[in-house]
Amino acid sequence: MNPSSEGLPSSDDDQVLPFQLDALGVRGRLVRLGPSLDAVIEGHGYPLAVARPLAEAMALCTALATSLKYDGIFTLQISGDGPVRLLVTDLTSDGALRGYAQFDSRKLAVALGGGTGEAPEGYVPKLFGQGRLAFTVDQGQHTERYQGVVPLEGATLADCAHTYFRQSEQLPTGIKIAARRTVDGGTGHWRAAALMVQQMPEFDAGRVDVDREQREDDWRRAVILMASATEGEMLDAKLPGTRLLYRLFHQERPRQFERRRFVARCRCSRTRIDRVLRSIKREELGDLRDPSSRVVVKCEFCSSEYAYDDRDLDRIYASAA
Ligand SMILES: [Zn+2]
Repeated sequence: MNPSSEGLPSSDDDQVLPFQLDALGVRGRLVRLGPSLDAVIEGHGYPLAVARPLAEAMALCTALATSLKYDGIFTLQISGDGPVRLLVTDLTSDGALRGYAQFDSRKLAVALGGGTGEAPEGYVPKLFGQGRLAFTVDQGQHTERYQGVVPLEGATLADCAHTYFRQSEQLPTGIKIAARRTVDGGTGHWRAAALMVQQMPEFDAGRVDVDREQREDDWRRAVILMASATEGEMLDAKLPGTRLLYRLFHQERPRQFERRRFVARCRCSRTRIDRVLRSIKREELGDLRDPSSRVVVKCEFCSSEYAYDDRDLDRIYASAA
């Protein structure tokens, strides 16, 4: 274990802990989310069967986003024709995380068939139906947007991510995701975790003299060790991430890197909503008007409402001219 980590607060919530297994030519990361999930999920009051996929998607989003170098916004979006129509989560390079889901309550009740209300194991086909998984990296106006899209294939979100890794010819990647809600003193709390390993290009791994067969064996070993993490361990707030990595990979002497923190924060603002409105013709705003004739726009991520009366609209459309 990294001696410098001793004595630090044990909570790894809302952080990513990157690591490298030099002996195997593999890098990885452990993401653990806690309060940021509560802020997003409990804030919306989503039913359990919607909350768990969202919690897992947020863990997947942070694991993938922090394995890329980007300056902007990484977005994960799942859409389908099932009870959960849409699930969106994004992470900015400075650590702001948010997410929301759109679902049909009636279809959801039918799909769950009067069970506990929890998302069943292997819930992807049941909750999302036929759909797709998309990743987008947006680095601002003057750069090209990167987008990867794959059909939603697999029983779990991790399966779907594996489909993406294979189809998009990424480096061999393995991921394990877990999420659970616990009730503590009458208050619900969500926790989620993602553990990811990725084979490094030979050059980066500094293992140019390792033959192909050895590389494959090393990769297989890394995946088996990663998969040996139990959901209980991944979600245990009392088990520090450094200790979990040591438990899993102690023979490989995991080398750990600086953690990065996340915080639940929405990027919506009146200026941004102004811009959105300006992109719509004023006469087409009728549907958005409330009974007092104000145009009200609600942010799906954080539920903030932005209201505009006619004087506000005059100002917006005047500045567009
Ligand atoms: Zn917002």
